[in-house]
Amino acid sequence: MSLKESVKDFEFECYEKYSGTADEVKKQIEICPKCGIKLCFSHRPDCNSLLIEEMARCLNCDFGPRSIIHIIN
Ligand SMILES: [Zn+2]
Repeated sequence: MSLKESVKDFEFECYEKYSGTADEVKKQIEICPKCGIKLCFSHRPDCNSLLIEEMARCLNCDFGPRSIIHIIN
């Protein structure tokens, strides 16, 4: 019973985090943290391992490249 309650709390906390600051999270992903210019993204899909490597870099300053791996499912 206690395990079930803790899982429920975890899901609720995640939902609150996304719904509250969705625009802010999106800005943090798309905007350069150094200069505030929108980042340039490039994607390199890897079909064998079902992954997409996303590279973000700023064309305005020396930020990046920042690499994020997406799993296709
Ligand atoms: Zn920048």
